[in-house]
Amino acid sequence: MPAPAAAAPIARTAGKLLAARAASGRQGGGDGGGGGNGALVVLVVVLGVPVGLVFGLVLLVSTVAGGQQRACMPQGGGGALPANFTGPGSLGEVGGTGIKRSLVERVRSTSPFAGEKITLGSYGTTAYGPPWGGIQGEGNATSGGLPIRGRSPRYYMVAVDTDLIAHGTFVYVWPNPFEWKGPFLAADTGGAIQGKRIDFYDWRGRPTQRGWGLKKSRVSAKPIAGDGGGQSSDEAEAPAATGPGAGECGGAAGSLADPGGDGKVVVHPGADRPDVKTRKPVLDFLKRTAGVFGQQIILTTGTAHGRMSSAGQVSDHWVGLGADMGSVANKFQDGGEKGTRIAAAALRAAGVPESLALRTARSGGGHNVCHRGWRVQVIWRTGGHFDHIHVGLRRGCNHEGIQTFQIG
Ligand SMILES: [Zn+2]
Repeated sequence: MPAPAAAAPIARTAGKLLAARAASGRQGGGDGGGGGNGALVVLVVVLGVPVGLVFGLVLLVSTVAGGQQRACMPQGGGGALPANFTGPGSLGEVGGTGIKRSLVERVRSTSPFAGEKITLGSYGTTAYGPPWGGIQGEGNATSGGLPIRGRSPRYYMVAVDTDLIAHGTFVYVWPNPFEWKGPFLAADTGGAIQGKRIDFYDWRGRPTQRGWGLKKSRVSAKPIAGDGGGQSSDEAEAPAATGPGAGECGGAAGSLADPGGDGKVVVHPGADRPDVKTRKPVLDFLKRTAGVFGQQIILTTGTAHGRMSSAGQVSDHWVGLGADMGSVANKFQDGGEKGTRIAAAALRAAGVPESLALRTARSGGGHNVCHRGWRVQVIWRTGGHFDHIHVGLRRGCNHEGIQTFQIG
């Protein structure tokens, strides 16, 4: 549901944070130590169906106009756009959803819950929407950034639990209140929409919202086949055909890219050992961090670091996956607010919502976040980490929320 309900998933994440804190204790080691190398199961379903000529032209035009950078912006989530769906009930625009391409891109680039994850299967579904006010919220904009402005825009859009379905993805949900066989854009959340629950945005008003009640629907990443009678299946978990732009952005599934533009990262002379450079995933992640921070970031220690971490394991630095941002070069006071903002920007770049990222960074400690298949570790304001912020990456993780540890 629009704006007010956005607090729910944040609160839920905070709950996980507390649980993780209680459970993890001091595990997780310091400075690149902790692992969390469980089997990683990332369900990334690439949306994609044969693309119509019209859409192809639209894409071509926008690619030419916006250039490669623009074409790659949706890295934050969603995968390829669906084909135009011109069947009964089409509202035009992207996939017949009534939602302009620029708005899809806005959701994909600004929603803190943007991504590519789609969890298939059976969901309990309800409907919500105008008239706004009360439990329906103010109706200003969805938590994913889709404008509503207190009105009743015609969109095929759903509120989801973003742990299961990321914002910016297109899902096919059948049955639905519109008997619509095309896609819905996931772009909202709701306090009660947790787990396998979906809320259909229904602009038509209370009678049809109430008329829908609570039903079971199937979520698919592919168009509903035949009469829509549950032909979609979990077989769709295999990536569907890739659509336009897929692959152009190089390894999006394993990247750390997050919504927002990149900033500038400067590798300080001597930060790396001559023979081993800091690796690209770290530099990419720091660019994203700098984009969130809004200023350039200077990497002061990369691989030119002792072999062992403070926890007695091979340091992330040693293998090119660790970075320190020192206080002198980055012009912040030891333990100061500017350092906190850089640490928070790193957490934010790892997918942590803004307010939680700031609170977490300020509270001090080492924080492990699992983001796009990488364990991102941010250490700030604990044992020896007051004059620099440490960021370390490790491939593979499977925990939820933030695992926090202190360095004695
Ligand atoms: Zn470090």
